Amino acid sequence: MLSVSDLSFSYDTKQALKDVSFRAEPGRFTALLGPNGAGKSTLFALLTRLFTTRDGQIEIAGHDLAKAPREALAVMGVVFQQPTLDLELTIRQNLSYFAALHGLSGKDAAMRIDAALDRLDIRARAGEKARSLNGGHRRRTELARALIHQPKVLLCDEPTVGLDAQARAAITAHVHDLAEDGLTVLWATHLTDEVRESDDVLLLHQGVLRASGTARDLTGAQA
Ligand code: ADP
Ligand code: ADP
Repeated sequence: MLSVSDLSFSYDTKQALKDVSFRAEPGRFTALLGPNGAGKSTLFALLTRLFTTRDGQIEIAGHDLAKAPREALAVMGVVFQQPTLDLELTIRQNLSYFAALHGLSGKDAAMRIDAALDRLDIRARAGEKARSLNGGHRRRTELARALIHQPKVLLCDEPTVGLDAQARAAITAHVHDLAEDGLTVLWATHLTDEVRESDDVLLLHQGVLRASGTARDLTGAQA
């Protein structure tokens, strides 16, 4: 579903990714584990085509990302590390705006939005301004928004940073459910705890993929 081959990327003087290759599969929660500076955000910028490189290849749902038409990018849903909600809009308005960007309006949009809000268990808060929600609920809103256009691949860049343990667990559980329902999930984190519960693990360090395999193999955990 998501396949990365020999991917490299450099900023002016700093090589942030070196010959990174991996696959992320449907129905699997793949954790991308690496300390700060490992290259996780750089990889996400390349996966979302915010950055481009000629050095290596990314294939998403059968499309070469470098050549894919813009519409093909809709196969991805993304939760960025930085908060992106408009705090003065309600939850529903935040999602409606995004639905419109994907050409959805009226009843279709409303149905998709309700389904996504149900999925993340935040429909009861739909009429509230994003500002009034705590960090965990804001994150859940961003996740719901990432699902509206029914992506096949879900990219999450450290979505639990700054949340308390309870909110972290809730979000992680929701995303595990989504993977179980068939989504391809790539979840960047610097927290080893979040890796134990994942299906597959990619270990990134200083731009190099040091190890990859099932969480069970890499952590020796009982599955
Ligand atoms: P992570 O998300 O894993 O913390 P990043 O992808 O942000 O890692 O960074 C990877 C490396 O690239 C780090 O050494 C970082 O300092 C460097 N880097 C990131 N962005 C830039 C930039 N705009 N210019 C120069 N170096 C950068
Ligand atoms: P992350 O949480 O991804 O590690 P950082 O705090 O490393 O984020 O980076 C925050 C911002 O600063 C990003 O836009 C990144 O591209 C930029 N950045 C990071 N390292 C450098 C660097 N060495 N030189 C210039 N910009 C950098």
